Amino acid sequence: MIMNDVVSINGELFPLIEAKIPLLDRGLLYGDGIFEGVRFYDKKPLLHIPHFERFCKSAEYIRLSPPSLESYNHEIKKTIEASGYADGYLRIILTRGVGKMGITPTGYGKPNFYVIVTNIALYDKSLYENGIELVVSKSRRIHKDSFSGQVKSLAYLPNIICLWEALESGATEALMLDCDGYVSEASVANIFALMGNTLLTPSLEANCLEGVTRNQIIKLSSKLGFNVEEKLFKLDELLEADEVFLTGTGAGVVPVASINGTKFKIDRSKKIREVYESSIKDNCQAL
Ligand code: PMP
Repeated sequence: MIMNDVVSINGELFPLIEAKIPLLDRGLLYGDGIFEGVRFYDKKPLLHIPHFERFCKSAEYIRLSPPSLESYNHEIKKTIEASGYADGYLRIILTRGVGKMGITPTGYGKPNFYVIVTNIALYDKSLYENGIELVVSKSRRIHKDSFSGQVKSLAYLPNIICLWEALESGATEALMLDCDGYVSEASVANIFALMGNTLLTPSLEANCLEGVTRNQIIKLSSKLGFNVEEKLFKLDELLEADEVFLTGTGAGVVPVASINGTKFKIDRSKKIREVYESSIKDNCQAL
């Protein structure tokens, strides 16, 4: 069996390293497209339907027709098979496709549909052991009246700039506040705070993405013995937490060791990570 990064471009398979897309793809010119990142284990996507539903919602928000679940599944299954990977990461992308130069989004034919199969490891093992350092970026999470935080668009520059700020100050990740100063999310992850037996996380009002991993942690919370509170809260409240952790498809559950130098314990976050990891198998779906 071949073990390689591969991509399906509108149904045609290519080794990822050799794949080419047209320069006039609007995804490249304007970030005019949407995506999902999904993990798979034993060739079965994790939390498949919640990712598909978010993919469809993102597509519809930007006025693109998503593929049917049947053809989405078909392309994913075929691409995973072609890679030879049992476990890996899917990057599923839909762009407005190719047309004339210029921003006008009308008059396009079929969208371009890309499915990449690869592997990602966002953080070293040691960061899961010791926790990561966060800093609050000066740049704010885009306002919900400008663009819905629920849409995974290809335009990630605001998040990348926040991450740059964090990296330049020696931290690993950025914490973004919303335009009113409420805690929103990290550059590619949601945030939770443990306060006694309460698990606090920003409500979607803060324009954070409704993360699939976030929702899974909320689901597991009763098993973990926590009450969940989703609300708007400011940085000073977050800094009072016993523990803080991030969640995302790429990184899983990541304990946070400090925010702007304020330190947190990480023991219970590591336990939550274990519970999350042990729930993975039951949430993978054969295609
Ligand atoms: N927020 C942002 C901005 C993200 O890009 C991601 C990664 N998809 C997340 C949160 C976490 O979402 P999920 O758990 O669905 O991966």
